[in-house]
Amino acid sequence: MSARATPRRPRSPRAAVGLDRLWAPWRMAWLAKADAPHGCLFCRVAAARADRRDLVLARRADAVLMLNRYPYASAHLMVAVRRHAARFRDLRPAERSDVLDLVSLAERALDAEYAPHGVNYGLNVGRVAGAGFPGHLHMHLVPRWDGDTNFMPAIAQTRVLPEALADTWARLRNAITSLERPSRSKRSARGGARGATQR
Ligand SMILES: [Zn+2]
Repeated sequence: MSARATPRRPRSPRAAVGLDRLWAPWRMAWLAKADAPHGCLFCRVAAARADRRDLVLARRADAVLMLNRYPYASAHLMVAVRRHAARFRDLRPAERSDVLDLVSLAERALDAEYAPHGVNYGLNVGRVAGAGFPGHLHMHLVPRWDGDTNFMPAIAQTRVLPEALADTWARLRNAITSLERPSRSKRSARGGARGATQR
């Protein structure tokens, strides 16, 4: 299958739901709306405790680490504060701490499982800055490898993702379980690691 093999229109229900995993930036707006029928995506994910369905990789008392369902690259992660807060200046110290703790955990999990050569960090604050959910602070982590396709997909408006989201979720979830095993007791004292074993 060619990376440029964009169908002109959905040819079947399979194509319509994107089993070919083509990435097209112009689809982001309606995809985000379609996936958040009850309002804010991050509030819903934080409350639902359906980690496999929602692609959640780890939880802390005040933050959540998850896969982006519409990724720029394989293993595109997001860290969101649990509470519906829009700016870093709105966060309490414990919330800032948990967000950064999960950013650190995300880096370690990516290193362990995918060995990226670099990571793009993205923080879109406000609709004008490109945030899909401007009311709820979240950071993007996009792993990068030497020789990957950099920003060409943004021009070509399509790319093929080489790994299914469910597989990426399982790989990173297992990596995080291994990484957290020696130090779980400290985080569990705050109740933040409760979701780490939930499926
Ligand atoms: Zn929210």
